[in-house]
Amino acid sequence: MDRFTKIVASIGPSCETADVLRKMIQTGVNVCRLNFSHDTGETQGHKIDLIRKISADLKKPVAIMIDLQGPKHRIGNFLTEEKYPLVPGQVFTFDSNPAPGNSKRVNLPDTDVLKSLKPGERILLNDGKIEMQVLSATPSQVQATVIRGTEIWSRRGFNLPDTDVETSVLTDKDKADLEYALTKRPDWVAISFVQRPEDIAEVRDFITQRVSYPVKIMAKIERRNAVERLNEIASAADGIMIARGDLAVELPFEQVPAISRHIIRECRKLNRPVIMATQMLATMVNSEFPTRAEISDVANTCYLRADAAMTSEETTIGSNPINVIETMNKILTYSDDDAVANPYDWLRVENVPENDWSRSVASMAFLNKAAAIIVFARDTNTATQISCRRSDIPIIAVCDDMMIANQLCLSRGVIPMYEPDLFGPRDAFNSARLAGIMSGNLVIVDEDKISLRKLD
Ligand code: PGA
Ligand code: MN
Repeated sequence: MDRFTKIVASIGPSCETADVLRKMIQTGVNVCRLNFSHDTGETQGHKIDLIRKISADLKKPVAIMIDLQGPKHRIGNFLTEEKYPLVPGQVFTFDSNPAPGNSKRVNLPDTDVLKSLKPGERILLNDGKIEMQVLSATPSQVQATVIRGTEIWSRRGFNLPDTDVETSVLTDKDKADLEYALTKRPDWVAISFVQRPEDIAEVRDFITQRVSYPVKIMAKIERRNAVERLNEIASAADGIMIARGDLAVELPFEQVPAISRHIIRECRKLNRPVIMATQMLATMVNSEFPTRAEISDVANTCYLRADAAMTSEETTIGSNPINVIETMNKILTYSDDDAVANPYDWLRVENVPENDWSRSVASMAFLNKAAAIIVFARDTNTATQISCRRSDIPIIAVCDDMMIANQLCLSRGVIPMYEPDLFGPRDAFNSARLAGIMSGNLVIVDEDKISLRKLD
């Protein structure tokens, strides 16, 4: 039987050849994430074509998720590429002057940031290694005291954990990237540094003004204000990524596991798939084996009943991306089997009403020891909603639209099958057999009808 917890693989220089990609997909990748912070345009377009071709050759649905850079802030250039000394206690200035920086000041290309900062707020540079606190702020210049950090250099990224930045979630670069990406029919679009539900509406408007196919929107939760408005953001979006990389800089890192659990619970209530992301097997960038802590982190993604675990640098720039997917597949498969063998208190689904139809489907399948739940999926909603009840019973989603099959690749326990011929006569038994189920009870969800049948 297929794994329940899905694998999202970030695609980069180490895994862009047809052979490596094919092997990764065969080994278990369900979703390919293409990061537009690095390559854009045709370069990404070729990768999309290649993944589509491999998916068709292998007859295996694979989702393509493009990930837009979003308003990631960077400081400007210094006079040279060297590192400039910083002394805790000193004052450092960020300004709108485009002249190269020195150990006292640097340009901030993004004027929205200068306008948004207020005294007392923190500026965290270089993944939080440098911490400063704003002393005074005008729209053209911000002065800050260095709290931590001893050197600074060109184009460091920075986070503003205390600031509501008055900026659009789509930069001009994102708009150009999205405009191009939409010509390639991506299944999912991930949005970085979401701050408010209106950000999702803005992206959805941008998309619906250009294309009519139903591309799904993934909100990356990596800012404090996004955590605070999680419910509204998740309701507005189609899926959520727990972007632990930036989240652990924007919030005290010890809060990230608690926030992750909270996000998974909320997403299940709201019927939204959720991805656990970043540094899952980070040491495998240059090691053949994961650390014990990483093994636990991947397994816990399954035990926490998230939909998917994601790889980052370990597949984009790692020395052996196929080994990374084999490793992740091995850990998730074992943990899934263990979780299914030791049933979890899945009936205790917080805040899902007892008469919720998807909860009834899950109970019916569980109480009848069903081998599978078969859904004739005209859209993603029915299968996604049953998946969010986490009944630990495979959900075979028969689709007559390839994009629906691809989009469902992300949902926990859903086995999407593109079988328009079986969808036509709604042949649940043949669908089950095609998915490798030879006998047992089937719960069949066909439009409004829910039935229980025996396959033998
Ligand atoms: P990124 O997002 O890799 O695009 O920064 C993920 C994260 O922040 O964890
Ligand atoms: Mn991020």
